[in-house]
Amino acid sequence: MKVLVIGSGAREHALCRSLSLDPDVTALHCAPGNAGIAEVAELHQVDALDGKAVAALATELGAELVVVGPEAPLVAGVADAVREVGIPCFGPSKEAAQLEGSKAFAKEVMAGAGVPTARSYVCTTPAEVDEALDAFGAPYVVKDDGLAAGKGVVVTSDIEQATAHANACERVVIEEYLDGPEVSLFAITDGETVVPLRPAQDFKRALDGDEGPNTGGMGAYSPLPWADPTLVDEVLQTVLQPTVDEMRRRGTPFSGLLYAGLAITSRGVRVIEFNARFGDPETQVVLARLKTPLAGVLLAAAKGTLVHLEPLRWSDDAAVTVVVASHNYPGTPRTGDPITGLDEVAAQDAPQAYVLHAGTKRDGDTVVSAGGRVLSVTAVGADLAEARERAYAAVGRIGLDGSQHRSDIAAKAAAGAHGAE
Ligand code: AMP
Repeated sequence: MKVLVIGSGAREHALCRSLSLDPDVTALHCAPGNAGIAEVAELHQVDALDGKAVAALATELGAELVVVGPEAPLVAGVADAVREVGIPCFGPSKEAAQLEGSKAFAKEVMAGAGVPTARSYVCTTPAEVDEALDAFGAPYVVKDDGLAAGKGVVVTSDIEQATAHANACERVVIEEYLDGPEVSLFAITDGETVVPLRPAQDFKRALDGDEGPNTGGMGAYSPLPWADPTLVDEVLQTVLQPTVDEMRRRGTPFSGLLYAGLAITSRGVRVIEFNARFGDPETQVVLARLKTPLAGVLLAAAKGTLVHLEPLRWSDDAAVTVVVASHNYPGTPRTGDPITGLDEVAAQDAPQAYVLHAGTKRDGDTVVSAGGRVLSVTAVGADLAEARERAYAAVGRIGLDGSQHRSDIAAKAAAGAHGAE
């Protein structure tokens, strides 16, 4: 099978790594990719937001499957453009991607499907904002109603900060605060059948101890030893299947990856948000544990044949990912710094630990930083403690001037603590 992956982050590197290990994949292409992906796939330059250009590239390459990684191309209709030229595409239509693209739309779908989520108001005027903030009280949860790469959400007890963020957005969702540990659960779906993957937890704040600003994600681990073993089944029955059924009922069937961001509250599971694609960095740890070759799974979702898929096979290993980010991330990151130690990790830590690239590019013989999140250092082990140890040993070999990473990824879970990141 010839496969084309669209995107350039560590999530796409993880997807490409898994696809490159799949014996059914005869040719692997990625656009635009990065310096790490170049080692497992042939890179092509394309404007990932231009559906016609992506479809033309897929046709030229004879791709039999296109996998769209990030949300922005999905919301721009890239999956529709690929399907229009007759090539199966893993990823929802432009309309279905609104489940991520508009928080207000997601709330409507959840209400229609009876899916448990935070109570919320959609506000467009300062008066509505004041009323909603007052109704829920602190801590305040204020969400820009658009794509914001995980950074459009402010959770604060400071009413002035909450009001300022709300008034800076054109349309804003203000909602009830959900207390409890967070879980990310991904499911592969073809619009009818839903196949959940294994749950993971990510670390959204920039600094140790969940301090600092929200980021795209600073690390992740799976499995969640503290989670109830019935969690996946419960979420399938109460969240994933009803949402997929509701999307079909509304005439906007959702196929691809449905990502449920959940809070495990004292009153039960609640949806914090949906995403319409694999999450980064949770994908890095979930795919590290998936034993079933990936291409056939994604193709079955793209073609609508998931009902015939054999149950997925999983490794008992635990996996941990630590993100190495540029100086000043999540503010404007410093880029162009050389990265050292990649060969040492490959020589000394592989295959249990490996480096997935995000914002990197080649500059002659060196790999240099080219974005906010630069690397996802991923490791597997018999348990979280071992996976953690290996991941941090590999992080220790990496040199990147001014870089930052959290030192407490999976620490509490590895030590047997319940729940919270
Ligand atoms: P989102 O972009 O909706 O995932 O929000 C980003 C992060 O903000 C989440 O991962 C949570 O940590 C936090 N958050 C969002 N909504 C809520 C909520 N209703 N209650 C508590 N925390 C929230």
